[in-house]
Amino acid sequence: MKRRLLFLGPPGAGKGTQAQMLAAGRGLLHLSTGDLLRAEVAAGSELGKQAEAVMARGELVSDALVLAIVRSRLEGQPQGGGWLLDGFPRNLAQAEALAELLDDLGQPIELVVLMELDDGVLLQRLLSRGRADDNEAVIRHRLEVYREQTAPLISYYRERGLLEAVEADGTMETVAGRIAALLE
Ligand code: ADP
Repeated sequence: MKRRLLFLGPPGAGKGTQAQMLAAGRGLLHLSTGDLLRAEVAAGSELGKQAEAVMARGELVSDALVLAIVRSRLEGQPQGGGWLLDGFPRNLAQAEALAELLDDLGQPIELVVLMELDDGVLLQRLLSRGRADDNEAVIRHRLEVYREQTAPLISYYRERGLLEAVEADGTMETVAGRIAALLE
């Protein structure tokens, strides 16, 4: 079974939910940069203070900051332990930095799961979630940031033969089944 995974897709596609279920079921480390950043904001740390305003605008926190968070967690993970990255990388610079880090660790990505969903459905889902960065103007901006900065990673990983796409509508269990089928 594949144990080093990356989840890619627009905000609202359900990456966090699926990543959490899968990681818990298979004993993988679940690394969500969004969750980690929100925890820093809640704790009022120096890092959290830097991230807070940027996140509230729907923009991306600096690559250096996010990379430092990911690096510290992955370095602590034993060989063969397995992990699932969710919300990272979010642009090409982060993808290249990640490739270098994983090369150093000798733990290459085995599969990139792209979760696909229509913009209309995404918007509805995000509006009903009601998080601090989920008002309509900010959501539209986050979708734009996704299209401009993150979507280029689809061809980046496809060219490397790592990408598989799943349709992200349907129940949580349906989507989980589609993802599970890709891992064996
Ligand atoms: P969603 O899945 O709804 O897009 P996340 O929880 O992944 O949201 O991220 C929320 C916010 O945290 C992003 O809008 C961004 O400001 C910041 N963030 C998360 N991951 C990254 C990253 N890899 N690089 C830069 N900023 C990030």
